Amino acid sequence: MKQFKIWLKDGLIKGIKLYCGYEHYYPYDKKYQKVYDICIEYRVPVMIHTGDAYSSTAKLRYAHSLNIDDIAVDNPELRIVMCHLGNPWIADCQEVLYKNSNVYSDISGLVVGDFGLLSATRYVSQINDLLNYVGKPHRLLYGSDWPISNMDSYLGFVRMLELDEDSYDLMMSRNTKNIFRL
Ligand SMILES: [Zn+2]
Repeated sequence: MKQFKIWLKDGLIKGIKLYCGYEHYYPYDKKYQKVYDICIEYRVPVMIHTGDAYSSTAKLRYAHSLNIDDIAVDNPELRIVMCHLGNPWIADCQEVLYKNSNVYSDISGLVVGDFGLLSATRYVSQINDLLNYVGKPHRLLYGSDWPISNMDSYLGFVRMLELDEDSYDLMMSRNTKNIFRL
């Protein structure tokens, strides 16, 4: 944690990611509060892995989208990025996003490799549902999870969302610049 503070002070890092699920702790475990306090102090976001895990030793209950609500409520000054839309618990992710103005989510890591037509169609429908529920993508961030996912395929997938120009710009650039203070 000391080193983390030094890197933040020197501007070498812009946030931290916790791997709940891969690590067998809930995001609201008391152990993590120190990390949240530092993120608040240095005004950087904490990213938290949510949803499916790329490891047979990960435990999914620690990675469920709904767990994020607790830390969002208990740390109103903390900005939280739920990684991967909590996939496949995207409906839970959208409620946590809708309810908590300090929660963001990225769309990374939905597929390994390329999107197929079926997976792309399914995720387009789910993200459109989420946008209808939450409103404009003011707190949605682009990400691919490269090298696990293919970047070209990911950009093609984003085009399938048919976002208006402002929404596209928010998700692909402005939201990220804002939350990471780039
Ligand atoms: Zn992750």
